Amino acid sequence: MLRLKNEKQIDGIRESCKALSAMFREIIPLVKAGVETLELDRWAQNWIKRAGGKPAFLGYGPKDNPFPGAVCISINNEVIHGIPSRRKIVQGDLVSLDCGIDLGGFISDQAVTVEIGKVSEAAHRLNMVTRECLYKGIAAVRAGDRLLQIARAVESHAKSYGYGVVRQFCGHGVGFEVHEDPSVPNTPHGPNPRMSGGLVIAIEPMINLGTGDVEVLEDGWTVVTSDDKLSAHWEHTVAVFQDHTEILTDPLLD
Ligand code: MG
Ligand code: MG
Repeated sequence: MLRLKNEKQIDGIRESCKALSAMFREIIPLVKAGVETLELDRWAQNWIKRAGGKPAFLGYGPKDNPFPGAVCISINNEVIHGIPSRRKIVQGDLVSLDCGIDLGGFISDQAVTVEIGKVSEAAHRLNMVTRECLYKGIAAVRAGDRLLQIARAVESHAKSYGYGVVRQFCGHGVGFEVHEDPSVPNTPHGPNPRMSGGLVIAIEPMINLGTGDVEVLEDGWTVVTSDDKLSAHWEHTVAVFQDHTEILTDPLLD
């Protein structure tokens, strides 16, 4: 069921998004070689609690295997849902951070991919094009139009560089819960509802250097590329209004 939000509810989601982006602005400089991903996650958990929120991803998922962190930290061939661990980040890594905050019952969702030191030219280009895919997707949002035009915009930009687009995992409605309807794919498939004012969605291209095929590791969470090649991931929470679109999370790099 698709739950549209009224202005007051969007105000609440906007506040949650502002807090999340403020957290990202502080954590991004801490993402560097020698740091364990678990340290970053602890830092984020403390930050979110001090801000009066709750880490929305912590404990999310099946009861017998809930996600154990506040931030999904996915490195290189890991696409999404990487579990914070004792793994140390090293020079040349592509590190995606994906986080959500529950602030007063309103959920935000954002992801960035950080380049550690000097990454390869191929990694840098993949990262920048993935970010461009996010903005191409956002530019395709318009009340009255069909949702899958977001996927067409994302996919055509990625394919023009020969990249693979992940099909199995998608963006989503957000705001009251971590994942709501509709599914917001990055390749055109599945339901294609009309977008309308009050729709709040997370748009999140996951773009691979090789094919778009992915697998889930035995931990039940970590999604990796099937060919072990690099992947990048960028995400914004976006609100649709009758006459315009608002990016609720902060651009961070702009
Ligand atoms: Mg996310
Ligand atoms: Mg998301």
